Amino acid sequence: MQQRKMMLEGVRPPECEYCWKIEDAPGENISDRFIKSIDHWAFDKLDEALNTPWNKPVNPTYLEVIFSSECNLNCMYCVSDVSSSIAREMEKYGPYPNLPSEHRMPKHKEITGDNPYIAAFWKWFPDILPSLRVFRITGGEPLLSSNTFRVLEYLENHPNPNLELAINTNLSYSQQLLEKFMAHIKVLLAKKAIGSYTTYTSLDGHGAESAYIRRGLDFERFTKNMNLLFNSLPESRVILMCTFNLLSIGSFERMIHWVDGMKKEGRKVVLDLSYLKDPDYLRANIMDESLEAKLLACLELMKSLPSFETYEVKKFERVVNWACSTKSDERNKWLRAHFLQFIQEFDRRFNSNFEETFPEYATFLKICKKADIWMKVNNLY
Ligand code: SF4
Repeated sequence: MQQRKMMLEGVRPPECEYCWKIEDAPGENISDRFIKSIDHWAFDKLDEALNTPWNKPVNPTYLEVIFSSECNLNCMYCVSDVSSSIAREMEKYGPYPNLPSEHRMPKHKEITGDNPYIAAFWKWFPDILPSLRVFRITGGEPLLSSNTFRVLEYLENHPNPNLELAINTNLSYSQQLLEKFMAHIKVLLAKKAIGSYTTYTSLDGHGAESAYIRRGLDFERFTKNMNLLFNSLPESRVILMCTFNLLSIGSFERMIHWVDGMKKEGRKVVLDLSYLKDPDYLRANIMDESLEAKLLACLELMKSLPSFETYEVKKFERVVNWACSTKSDERNKWLRAHFLQFIQEFDRRFNSNFEETFPEYATFLKICKKADIWMKVNNLY
């Protein structure tokens, strides 16, 4: 409500910084708040939203929930509060040396025992379900939460044929678990207990590089699970969310060809790109000239492939415009040194090897090593 109040008074709420950065970047960039405002669940509510007092409670037409932070992956840019795997890592090893001490550390106290927020959700859900247009479950990994399956059973007995059900899933688990989940979805669709179903999954690069960024991901198992989804629910869309970060650049050409191949086979797949904002030392805009040339070539490649929709290309274009916008050399040195500190410690903790996985970053790595020396000489860590 406080954020709504600020927006109605023409103030930019700091927590919406992601959109302000896109809108302020050079070029004609359309931010998510415009894209989402024309979605079917929002567009016919715009006048009502504008004319409703900021402190009046409203039933949402779109709801996204996290039931649990239980997660089997440890993505480089994720945090303890969202992934139990990262919480375990930080408990075992503590903060990353020479990085801000709060990085990846838990910010909120873990809720043990009965979770009052989940109890509140189950009390509220029956009231809002009839007017909900989109219900999206995220995590953690939602398929590891019993509440996800409880929602599916609830919907079977309380249908809303106008509802779009969506899941954010990492697709990094057994085929049996995915089959169990899809069996429920098939029943919901057959009974018209929901209007449609969409899978949102994440991949920030291709092959071994994607597995480095999303630690615990097995690229082969991921693609097998994706194929299982396509074959079992051919009418449902799979949105491939790419949180574009510094390490996405190296394998992105392969990623574009891979998605292009699936589209040509008639798969309902969408490549949805956003840029990584936090942590700042993994942002794509700290790249050097060699990586920037690769990035620009990827944009040209995507533009040349007719299988990609205009909005997919536009979203990539705005990421590229943001990543290429001017930055200060001083700030870059600082962030590149922090990047080096992070990957050295990450490799040590997980016995991985950045240089072997990302050979095309050799020049960039030299620049980072020089920045690291500059930080040490000037006592800046
Ligand atoms: S799969 Fe999602 S919740 Fe799990 S670590 Fe990755 S980003 Fe975080």
